[in-house]
Amino acid sequence: MKHIKILPNNDKTNGWSLLSKPRTPNPALCQDISADWVVVGGGLAGLAAARRLAEHRPHESVVLVEADAVGEGAQGRNSGFAIDVPHNVGSAMGEMENAQRHLRLSRAAISHLSDQVKTHQIQCDWNQSGKFHAAVSDKGIRQILQPTRKTLESLKEPYEWLEGKALHQKLGFTHFKAGIYTPGTVLLNPSALCKGLADSLPSNVVLYEKTPVTGLHQEGQIKLVTPKGTITAKKLVLTVNVFAEQFGAYKERIIPIAAHASLTRPLTASEQEALGGLQSWGLTPANAFVGITMRRTNDQRILIRQGMSYEPKLVKSNTEREQARAIHQRLFDERFPMLKGVVMEHTWTGFLAVSRNGAQGFGEIAPNIYSAVCHNGVGLTKATIGGLLLADLACGISNPLLEDMQALGQPSPLPPRPFLDVGVRTRFAWELWSARKEA
Ligand SMILES: Cc1cc2nc3c(=O)[nH]c(=O)nc-3n(C[C@H](O)[C@H](O)[C@H](O)COP(=O)(O)OP(=O)(O)OC[C@H]3O[C@@H](n4cnc5c(N)ncnc54)[C@H](O)[C@@H]3O)c2cc1C
Repeated sequence: MKHIKILPNNDKTNGWSLLSKPRTPNPALCQDISADWVVVGGGLAGLAAARRLAEHRPHESVVLVEADAVGEGAQGRNSGFAIDVPHNVGSAMGEMENAQRHLRLSRAAISHLSDQVKTHQIQCDWNQSGKFHAAVSDKGIRQILQPTRKTLESLKEPYEWLEGKALHQKLGFTHFKAGIYTPGTVLLNPSALCKGLADSLPSNVVLYEKTPVTGLHQEGQIKLVTPKGTITAKKLVLTVNVFAEQFGAYKERIIPIAAHASLTRPLTASEQEALGGLQSWGLTPANAFVGITMRRTNDQRILIRQGMSYEPKLVKSNTEREQARAIHQRLFDERFPMLKGVVMEHTWTGFLAVSRNGAQGFGEIAPNIYSAVCHNGVGLTKATIGGLLLADLACGISNPLLEDMQALGQPSPLPPRPFLDVGVRTRFAWELWSARKEA
């Protein structure tokens, strides 16, 4: 039996969850059961996979099992950007073809989520307001924004190039030199979205929450062990993202990353006036490691997502969160001098997975075991489409998007630890130093 050594251990300070409608999680599993399908991980990929499996096989049973409550994992603690356009793509033919694939996959995910939000009236602040991709330095403009602009032109995607005052008037503050606005990104409250998706699953899906899987038998039949019951299933779908290695999947192919985010208290009417600019916006930095992702939310808070680190133990302490909060406050104060006294109300940590070559882990990884993991920081779209297509693949349903997904490849091998630890930390330090002007 494979013992799962590291289990999710989320802090209780996720602002998106605390600000969304309270929800009572489904009961934990407390008996031995069997099912046709078991999906492990109630994030974006697991919710999408369970829903589509149930739709394809209405007479079969699907069990979805989640260690915490849905909306409390990374799925509910990200920055809430469902991004359609790829950026930082070169203009070579192969890269352009991949950019087209990314576009088709991301748009299919947004369309799926949009349908669910409308059909089930999920109150998640869904807002297709687009996003600004912005740079602070001339180097950032030259190395990131200009190639992105070229890519968008080759893709014939609409965009607006904004410099200086034109950008400042949209955002209300002056930190960035230039930005590219694209209209397709949807901004939302990710915890509210996932809670709504969990509560609208088809009737042949049974969701168990607060039920960590602690062991996996896969010899002969698939059997999962949880603290108070077991699940025997014909087929297993693993959608545990950064926890995949715990299950023996994508070993030495996934880099675990911790990221912190904060939300301020809501701005008062006079503070909103002092800030000016659009009533809500989302901004991704030219350099995602060094820069700050920011939002002005519908309820007039400012989101700061900053500080990524390599975290193989998948845990961050309260002290580290407190340090992150202090940094976020300082960065906020520097950027918004007109908003003196606005404090960070919520600060939380989340864990995500990236691969060296930017590919997702997708496919049948052993007989009757399927997996969609490692969505490289854009899981709102990529985990969703990964989950949907995994269900298609497992049920033998043809879908032209499967070819797009498979053509993007698999996460490439990484050196074993401790070489990996040294390599990643050195790379991060170099990235932080070389792109420091983009902070
Ligand atoms: C701070 C931050 C900001 C981000 N911003 C964005 C953004 O703006 N846009 C975007 O697209 N992406 C963003 N991301 C990335 C995004 O959150 C992830 O890509 C996404 O959550 C991946 O979805 P998933 O379903 O694959 O995995 P997860 O959301 O991580 O879900 C996996 C689930 O598996 C469960 N699990 C793990 N082990 C077990 C076990 N043993 N038993 C049972 N259950 C288990 C976990 O509890 C978890 O809920 C951000 C991430 C962070 C941390």
